[in-house]
Amino acid sequence: MKVAKSADVIIIGGGPAGMTAALWCEELGLTSVLIEEAPRLGGQLHRVYNPIENYPGARAENGFEMVSKFDASLASASFVSRIGIKASAVDPASGAVRLEGPEQEVWSGHAIVLAMGVRRRVLGIPGESEFAGGAFSNRGSAIGSWSKESASSSSEAVMPRLKMRSVFPIRPRQ
Ligand SMILES: Cc1cc2nc3c(=O)[nH]c(=O)nc-3n(C[C@H](O)[C@H](O)[C@H](O)COP(=O)(O)OP(=O)(O)OC[C@H]3O[C@@H](n4cnc5c(N)ncnc54)[C@H](O)[C@@H]3O)c2cc1C
Repeated sequence: MKVAKSADVIIIGGGPAGMTAALWCEELGLTSVLIEEAPRLGGQLHRVYNPIENYPGARAENGFEMVSKFDASLASASFVSRIGIKASAVDPASGAVRLEGPEQEVWSGHAIVLAMGVRRRVLGIPGESEFAGGAFSNRGSAIGSWSKESASSSSEAVMPRLKMRSVFPIRPRQ
């Protein structure tokens, strides 16, 4: 069965950017639907275990605490949330967004906000996925803390490559 629904603004991605967009819609008096494929809002913040001290005006012990602060801000907002369901197709011409699933839910709106975050580039080297977040990191802050601590010979070896990834994550336009 095909289910068609509409909102002024369709927001794809429930990380900090999508959550902020939903708050803005609320403030502007626009109806919105926030679509997030993960089982909860917050995006990459669910992978932040360090204290967050570089977010202007806010501090949190980790990403989870930051998400709960965001949640509190969203509590009184009246947007529709579709959590745990992926936006599988977007038609910019008609403003339609199709959601994955047997219901074939389709949302149409006047504007679509793409807030789907980033996907990290991978090096494609042995052990990369097994050691992700541990010996391998693509975060500058992790590299900073490594440099303060005693680096093992193996982490020394990967450090210059990792710094390249941290400092130059954006490819020039073709
Ligand atoms: C380990 C780590 C530490 C960090 N530490 C800090 C820090 O100290 N300070 C700081 O300011 N920032 C930090 N960041 C960065 C911060 O988390 C990101 O800048 C922020 O989460 C980006 O928000 P976003 O909403 O743009 O994207 P994301 O957080 O990536 O959210 C995008 C969302 O879109 C969803 N999505 C994608 N495609 C679809 C689809 N087709 N349908 C439905 N949903 C979809 C994803 O599931 C995801 O939830 C850190 C990030 C990481 C990974």
